[in-house]
Amino acid sequence: MRGTFDLFVIGAGIAGLTVAEEAARRGLSVCIAEEVMFGGLMVNVNRLSPAIEGLPASGSDLAAEAMTRVYDLGVTPLFEAVIGFDQQPDGLLAVATCSGTHITRSVVVATGAQLRKLGIPGEAKYEGRGVAHCADCDAPMLRGETAIVVGGGDSALQECLVLAEFCSLVQLVHRGSSFSGRADLVNAVQQQPRITVYLRTIVDSLEGSEFLTGARLRNLDSGQVSLQPCKAFFAYVGLTPNTLIVPPSVKVIEGGIHVNVSCESSLNNVFAVGAVRSGYGGKIIDAKEDARLTVTAVCARLGYA
Ligand SMILES: Cc1cc2nc3c(=O)[nH]c(=O)nc-3n(C[C@H](O)[C@H](O)[C@H](O)COP(=O)(O)OP(=O)(O)OC[C@H]3O[C@@H](n4cnc5c(N)ncnc54)[C@H](O)[C@@H]3O)c2cc1C
Repeated sequence: MRGTFDLFVIGAGIAGLTVAEEAARRGLSVCIAEEVMFGGLMVNVNRLSPAIEGLPASGSDLAAEAMTRVYDLGVTPLFEAVIGFDQQPDGLLAVATCSGTHITRSVVVATGAQLRKLGIPGEAKYEGRGVAHCADCDAPMLRGETAIVVGGGDSALQECLVLAEFCSLVQLVHRGSSFSGRADLVNAVQQQPRITVYLRTIVDSLEGSEFLTGARLRNLDSGQVSLQPCKAFFAYVGLTPNTLIVPPSVKVIEGGIHVNVSCESSLNNVFAVGAVRSGYGGKIIDAKEDARLTVTAVCARLGYA
């Protein structure tokens, strides 16, 4: 059995890091566990939009600054995955990682989400061989090449614009008849001559041999199918929350953890923030607001001013 904390944060994306920082500032003993890389999804975004006043525009810089503050405040970092947690008979919570069990008075689940897959033929086969997930990282390597992006929200539009700075052609495929993303991003996409938009269109399959060479598109109105060449393929069609580690007593709705206005879940003293919770706003400012509400509630519950 390891040490006892006031608060155990699972996941060190922007939501988890902000919770850890704010809680440590209020005097709580805090542990934060991360299984992959401190920073989470935002690490892959070079130019965050909208810019947040006083914060760096690059996701990796934002993550690095947040991590430094968390270390400086004495938060205990764990570089390992949490495999589960549950309430004990005494009301405390036991959090299991590969290396042992940690006892804590409260838990914040900040495990975020993964980019949703399309589930089409070829998607798994060409993973890492043309199917990619970080346009910001890969765009400079795609100079003069052709890429396809699927989606109609902010992420798809934003990443299309990044790719268009390097690619000779970016084909944006969206099943709807209009975009759901912000108007300024829609305008920018429409004015970028290297982006071609296919509305009411889906991708049936990805084609190639050893590497991806093209995508088979189908227009939903005419039924017309065309094979469009591409070197890289990105799908930004929503996120799947990472809820596998939560016990059955934590209610999950539409894939995300159900929370009240203080971000508390159906299990006492267990909170959920950011992309893992249902109803999450989707932006970094929303994750930070979740963190603020949660720390206020945890402090009140544990008797911290
Ligand atoms: C392509 C793209 C572009 C975006 N652009 C913007 C933008 O410009 N502006 C903006 O405001 N927002 C943007 N967003 C959204 C923003 O990145 C997310 O809303 C935000 O990063 C979510 O933070 P999070 O902490 O909730 O989750 P995540 O960033 O997903 O972090 C969760 C962390 O938990 C860890 N974890 C998961 N399971 C475990 C476990 N069992 N044990 C330990 N650790 C675990 C993960 O490894 C991860 O590091 C973008 C998103 C995408 C996909």
